Amino acid sequence: MTVSQAIAASGIDAREARLLLAEVAGFSQASLAASPEQEIPFEVENAFLELTKKRREGVPVAYLLGRKEFYGLNLWVNPSVLIPRPETELLVDLALERKPASLLDLGTGSGAIGIAVKYKLPATRVVAVESDLSSLLTAKRNATKLNLQIDFRHGRWFEPVAGERFDLVVSNPPYVANGDPHLPGLRFEPQGALVSGPDGLDAIREITSSVGAYLRPGAWLLLEHGFGQEKAVRALIEAAGLEAITTWPDLAGIARVSGGKLK
Ligand code: GLN
Repeated sequence: MTVSQAIAASGIDAREARLLLAEVAGFSQASLAASPEQEIPFEVENAFLELTKKRREGVPVAYLLGRKEFYGLNLWVNPSVLIPRPETELLVDLALERKPASLLDLGTGSGAIGIAVKYKLPATRVVAVESDLSSLLTAKRNATKLNLQIDFRHGRWFEPVAGERFDLVVSNPPYVANGDPHLPGLRFEPQGALVSGPDGLDAIREITSSVGAYLRPGAWLLLEHGFGQEKAVRALIEAAGLEAITTWPDLAGIARVSGGKLK
């Protein structure tokens, strides 16, 4: 079978097929594109058919490749972690603007947010918390690969940072409502990183209810949230006693991050 035959027979999007074929063949996509009539070795063809079968079943490309680009960094991902989303880069931009001396990333998952901030602001002390051990290992592996010193802690939200205060607290918490019609499309990702109670706000309620004790004077809390949640999230941030409450839109124009700061 040739490259072009394999791509045509894959039954998946041609661009994704080229990506997966390049991966299993160990070629660049450019060299694949340059030689469509090239015969594919038998074992490469088998590995490619395996991957395209999983892709047809709905497994995200990032899990098939085992990596995802976020903020220009190549991160390892696996089904224990949420696949970093482009809209979460907004949260990183807002964190970088504040040039915090210390940052707490709650529910770090693959490590994406804490890692991107540490990469851009090496002097910032980054603490990243994660309750799921497999995710924590993935995040550590990502930081190690990029040679970044991040203080990873195992536990739930603020539990592993009791008694500490930070110059910035950020989180991309689970915020999808139970029974949301989009959930079947997200079934390969860890549900604990996605779903958070009947209105999707359970995790955000938990974070905002105690965040005040973990912020230094003048420090911001920045939370990612879903479409249409900004009003409720702003109210929770206000109830936490924070001020200067602001919401920022992502590149698609959807209100995506809300935050406030301690007096
Ligand atoms: N933005 C993600 C999605 O809806 C959800 C991420 C999250 O819950 N933190 O695909």
